[in-house]
Amino acid sequence: MAELSPVLKQATPVLAERGEGVHIYDEDGRRFLDFTAGIGVTSTGHCHPKVVAAAQEQVGKLIHGQYTTVMHRPLLRLTERLGEVLPQGLDRLFYVNSGSEAVEAALRLARQATGRQNAIVFTGSFHGRTMGAAALTTSGTKIRAGFGPLMPGVVVSPFPHAYRLGMSEADAVAHALRELDYQLATTTSPKDTAAVFIEPVLGEGGYVPVPDAFLQGLRERADQHGFLLVTDEVQTGFGRTGTFWGHERSGITPDIVITAKGLASGFPISAIAAPASVMEKAWPGSQGGTYGGNAVACAAALATLDVIQEEDLVANSAAQGERLRQGLEKVGSVHPEIGDVRGRGLMQASEFVTADGSPDGATAARAQQAAAKNGLLLLTCAPHGNVVRMIPPLVVNGEQVDSALELWAASVEEATSS
Ligand code: PMP
Repeated sequence: MAELSPVLKQATPVLAERGEGVHIYDEDGRRFLDFTAGIGVTSTGHCHPKVVAAAQEQVGKLIHGQYTTVMHRPLLRLTERLGEVLPQGLDRLFYVNSGSEAVEAALRLARQATGRQNAIVFTGSFHGRTMGAAALTTSGTKIRAGFGPLMPGVVVSPFPHAYRLGMSEADAVAHALRELDYQLATTTSPKDTAAVFIEPVLGEGGYVPVPDAFLQGLRERADQHGFLLVTDEVQTGFGRTGTFWGHERSGITPDIVITAKGLASGFPISAIAAPASVMEKAWPGSQGGTYGGNAVACAAALATLDVIQEEDLVANSAAQGERLRQGLEKVGSVHPEIGDVRGRGLMQASEFVTADGSPDGATAARAQQAAAKNGLLLLTCAPHGNVVRMIPPLVVNGEQVDSALELWAASVEEATSS
């Protein structure tokens, strides 16, 4: 009898049968509050009726029309609609299927557009597991170790992680920008640097928001040296952080935006957006894949955009994120094992540390498992597994946030009292 690869080690024993809104039901009918949203994917909740209806209608019309051979209306409509929510000027779009593939596309495009090779990333970054994306990823050795040689030309500069550096945010930004300038003077000449890649909130690296001043500093350097600023909004896009895009609050405009996850509420589709002057440097055939821009996924993405707008989910993300954050801080204030609570919008985390401030992955794992037993599904983060993160669907309401917080308080109590 065939079995799943052991690489698919599960954090919880839940065997999901169906999902509805913020809940997952197992095969015995047990209900779980899903504060993982399939790692930030089911933005409009599980099986939102409008998304289901749009996908079902499209399945009966055209499932797949390969975009280099025939064009289809859902892809054209999605392109128009994304143009309305993207920063002005980023009006050329290109589609693939997953976050990693979109990162690969952005990497290829950055090289095509600049004629330069190197990329700058930051400590704790996560951009995916395919070989180019893995070379850009520094959030944990399990993505890289044993897979070398990885793509050369990736320079890692410190992320302004105020808590980990033990600095104020302003000092952490000044430190990280100084280090970046040092890298540009010593390791990757601006003449060789194609792009800098950054997540507006470090995702797998621990839910650390990028200070606005840091993104602004990157924009200045990109302009000064002629490299591209790429924001990887795979996890932070589509309202997740309380604004439509994670970079928005800093006031900067990136050169390339990468989006996936929340884009189609669970259907596999991803996109990159760039100005015409950048995108026109990608010659036909150099980018893309068989399933890119799948018609059913496009229909689901269009319905997702409708639901986000009709149900005001970006504002809900900001309001419920704030409520969640305050509740997490309250739990953190009575548990010294929780060293830091942080995040933006509905992307919030609690970091577990030992008495000397070292990462405490064991307690975080106990809290996650206790929560699953109590009916609340949560995620942990690399590199030490000591950050427990909450990323519920954007449709979550105040009552559900409060229920999750109650279950969280009880689960932390269980995890720390043994
Ligand atoms: N970039 C970011 C910021 C991500 O969070 C992820 C997935 N966690 C990826 C890229 C890779 O996406 P995928 O798993 O769809 O390949």
